[in-house]
Amino acid sequence: MNQQGHMASYGQPQPGYQGYQQFGYNNQHSAGVPTTQYGPYNGPVQGYETTAASQGPLRPASGAPPTSLPPSTAAHSTTYSQYGQGDIQNGPALTDQMQRFPVSQSYMSGGQPMPYQQYAPPPSNAQQLPNQMAAMQISGSTNNAPPPVSQSYGPPTSHHQTTAGFPPTGPTVYTQYSTPVQNISTNIPQAGNPPQHPFPGQTVPATTFTSPPTSMGLTGMNLSPPAGVPRPTAMHGPPLPGPSQTGFPPSQPPIGHYPPQPNHRPAGPQPGTGMPGVVPGPPSQGFQVHPTQPSQGFIPQQNGSFGQMRAPQPNYAAPYTGTPSYSSQPQQQQKRLDPDSIPSPIQVIEDDKSNRGSEPFSTGVRGQVPPLVTTDFVVKDQGNSSPRFVRCAAYNLPCTSDMAKQCQVPLTAVIKPLATLPADETPPYIVDHGETGPVRCNRCKAYMCPYMQFIEGGRRFQCAFCSCVTEVLPHYFQHLDHTGKRMDYYDRPELSLGSYEFLATVDYCKNNKIPNPPAFIFMIDVSYNALKSGLVHLLCEELKTLLDYLPREGNAEESSIRVGFVTYNKVLHFYNVKSSLAQPQMMVVSDIADMFVPLLDGFLVNVNESRAVINSLLEQIPEMFGDTRETETVFGPVIQAGLEALKAAECAGKLFIFHSTLPLAEAPGKLKNRDDKKLINTDKEKVLFQPQTSFYNNLAKECVAQGCCVDLFLFPNQYVDVATLGLVTYQSGGSIYKYTYFQAQADGERFLNDLHRDVRKVIGFDSVMRVRTSTGIRATDFFGSFYMSNTTDVELAALDCDKAITVEFKHDDKLNEDNGAQIQCALLYTSCSGQRRLRIHNLSLNCCTQLADLYRNCETDTLINYFVKLAYRSVLSNPTKTVRDTLINQSAQILACYRKNCASPSSAGQLILPECMKLLPVYLNCVLKSDVIQPGAEVSTDDRSYIRQLVTSMDVAETSVFFYPRLLPVHKMDVDSDDFPVAIRCSEERLSKGGIYLLENGLNLFIWVGMNTQHDLIQSIFNVQSFGQIDSALSALPMLDNPYSKKLRSMVDMTRAQRPRFMKLMIVKQDDKMELLFKHFLMEDKSASGGASYVDFLCHMHKEIRQLLS
Ligand SMILES: [Zn+2]
Repeated sequence: MNQQGHMASYGQPQPGYQGYQQFGYNNQHSAGVPTTQYGPYNGPVQGYETTAASQGPLRPASGAPPTSLPPSTAAHSTTYSQYGQGDIQNGPALTDQMQRFPVSQSYMSGGQPMPYQQYAPPPSNAQQLPNQMAAMQISGSTNNAPPPVSQSYGPPTSHHQTTAGFPPTGPTVYTQYSTPVQNISTNIPQAGNPPQHPFPGQTVPATTFTSPPTSMGLTGMNLSPPAGVPRPTAMHGPPLPGPSQTGFPPSQPPIGHYPPQPNHRPAGPQPGTGMPGVVPGPPSQGFQVHPTQPSQGFIPQQNGSFGQMRAPQPNYAAPYTGTPSYSSQPQQQQKRLDPDSIPSPIQVIEDDKSNRGSEPFSTGVRGQVPPLVTTDFVVKDQGNSSPRFVRCAAYNLPCTSDMAKQCQVPLTAVIKPLATLPADETPPYIVDHGETGPVRCNRCKAYMCPYMQFIEGGRRFQCAFCSCVTEVLPHYFQHLDHTGKRMDYYDRPELSLGSYEFLATVDYCKNNKIPNPPAFIFMIDVSYNALKSGLVHLLCEELKTLLDYLPREGNAEESSIRVGFVTYNKVLHFYNVKSSLAQPQMMVVSDIADMFVPLLDGFLVNVNESRAVINSLLEQIPEMFGDTRETETVFGPVIQAGLEALKAAECAGKLFIFHSTLPLAEAPGKLKNRDDKKLINTDKEKVLFQPQTSFYNNLAKECVAQGCCVDLFLFPNQYVDVATLGLVTYQSGGSIYKYTYFQAQADGERFLNDLHRDVRKVIGFDSVMRVRTSTGIRATDFFGSFYMSNTTDVELAALDCDKAITVEFKHDDKLNEDNGAQIQCALLYTSCSGQRRLRIHNLSLNCCTQLADLYRNCETDTLINYFVKLAYRSVLSNPTKTVRDTLINQSAQILACYRKNCASPSSAGQLILPECMKLLPVYLNCVLKSDVIQPGAEVSTDDRSYIRQLVTSMDVAETSVFFYPRLLPVHKMDVDSDDFPVAIRCSEERLSKGGIYLLENGLNLFIWVGMNTQHDLIQSIFNVQSFGQIDSALSALPMLDNPYSKKLRSMVDMTRAQRPRFMKLMIVKQDDKMELLFKHFLMEDKSASGGASYVDFLCHMHKEIRQLLS
């Protein structure tokens, strides 16, 4: 496996990153104010600076001029323009559709040119990481082949001259894990839990699980661990008896009875067999996971460790009721597969944290699998994009399409182009090539990047994507050093970094015209329901202050974004809030059949200039409509009005629509209530996810063409047809929020937090994303909130920092191991001040001719992100059962191919999973059981559409926690530490009656209280004396001055801060009626809607795999 790529020269650490300075920035993240200073888009100075993102103000260092030659103004744009050649790459293919009206007014209040910051030489203490390769290797594979050692893009280690920016060790969260878990109250020995890797640093033996023989009877396999391995506690159980009396849960009849099996790997060294860890046991049935990583310092799961009897587990037949530990009830263990013996998400997550959380992840190595999304790690960009921007399911692609078909592993990347980086990582630098614009390949138009190979003494470069040779223009010429690298390699982000931005020239603008700054239009439903719930009053009050936080560019004193206001019920009211007015003026448009905007001057205004008039308006709106009896609303004309206003102002922008009811009033886009739960599980179920009229499809198309993004805040008390109302939001790159049965008092906090974040977040307008690839693969499919009018350009009216786009690649030729495969994602967008920019992300992957190499370099969380998006799109055109079957089938093929081609020969009865996919079954089962695909009776049609839409633009971290929630044992928290307690598996049998747990999935947040929780802990947290006195209606924990209260409230705050949406807290008492809702999130259990338990599903997958293999 030759993994030396064509860019072998990247392999050496390089000294000092001369030429640009990483600016320090402070931690004013919460201010949400974009901060970098920007100069004029085509200003005279060539240089680059860090992008604002939301990282807080950047402070320029003293500048040194760039080393590059001044731009040649001759021969520039025609050569490189995206638009100038008819071969439109990132730009609007829609130029004629996008004709704007002539400018009628000037509103450039912001965006005055500011001097560019220049970059400076790095501090002399440039940090070297000579040994990072070793540190970051994903390693430890003891099986099939040597671990990947590709060095093709070896780390130019020197650009992190910001020594301070990268703490030498990883984050501290969860470090508690390497020490014994501390409990704050009673604890009993964890009899049911085998210790899982008490000896750090040793290779994980393959886990072997036995699943039952199909013949039902043979369960008494008395497996013993390999010689020399200390047997974990649970494995000391009595010999496994013979056939059990009761059958396996009915869903899997052929699979019979399950003997308990040695659980997580025994910790000792394994005998040096070719198949480490295969437990020498009965030859028939087994279950292995092939290791690839060493496991260190893992502490056993807290299964049942809290001393109380476990709550009955209703979903399981009988065995565990009231059983404090497995080993004490040997007679019952055989009835099913021991849940402790199957791959545990918690263990995988914690292993990754301890193995990979302490060292920075440097991106210089091609095809390197990043740490899991649940691991807190620092990224150093050394020529490939950070996994925060791009994450792949496979980092070692099969060389041929035959191999790809054989393994069925989707080749997919989840791209989050504007992702927010943590405060200790540098946002992408901005490169300004002046009037010439970015340097690009002549043929495929790929942008200059670290993979381009300079030849002929630097006079030409060969494209890594299409191999075409392009001449280097004089202004960009630079000599090469003895390794063939340009002398200015480290001075130029586009030569040495995976992610950066280019300032775009006028050629990248619609109609070759510099865009106006965007506008925000607030459009408020003032019908009866919206007033009665308190929404209008709450919103208007909040807007008065929120308008101070509109996104700003760099250090700009004020936002360039202008604002406008509309209210509506059956008619629309526009407001003139021109600064010269003493009072706002209302203009009513009651003829909504053909929407127009009744005023231009005074509708979109600068907040500071018109503040008095705006405040007056926001005071008056709740009063004006306070007595309204109007219950009917329109919706289509509202979007049309916003769109027309942006068209008239010749700008992109965002509509914030606050809407409460199904739009029944006579108007374009009028809807009817067509909800019909009887369609569930029929061939017609798909209709529920489709819009009921094509009106909104057409409107969405118009919005995207204008750069009009629609954010929708819904406050329904009944069916509002989210599938239809959300369509424009979906296709325009907007966000949707839903507050069912909204009451200002109870739900105001959540709504206002969401609104704040939504208004303030980093966003790019009028965007086009193009993904280029090297020869051999190409992007064939895209998933997310956007619009596509052709097969290559992802068009987004706007794209914000929370939105991810999942891309699927397919072969169109052979790949080769030497060259690997390169991906370049280019996002053209307009910043909040109207600056046109290109953000470029590059990722280079390995290619393999051996399937084992593929299976060793996969990432299950990303795979799941792809699967769920595929499934959620498929429900539009297929019955949900078909969707489920397709997912199961593809997953079974993936695992069967591994079994057949990569695992050592063993009994067909053994389930053998690749190490990096051992969680595929459990996570897949979570997707299959999700509300969209397999809804319970209580799940509304609107909620299904809502979830479907949310998930479609989630990144990997979000889908990961959304489908397998985080369940934290609060009673085990260490009040002296900032760390969270180690999570436990999402199953009722893991809950202790004496415990308190926090569960979150990014949308929901629960605190579950066991009925036997110690009184002093209850007192400390809830300020009441007993379990019975806890008020489950609480939406916030009481602020008490004791360490337990403080710690738990801090956990809630930190959890909320990690997620893009505010989660309302719900208190659930054991055996309370609310518990049913809570149990819905215990994903390893059988679901109320009939979804299989993890154990059952794993057996089902095993059966599917065996069928494929036979
Ligand atoms: Zn090219």
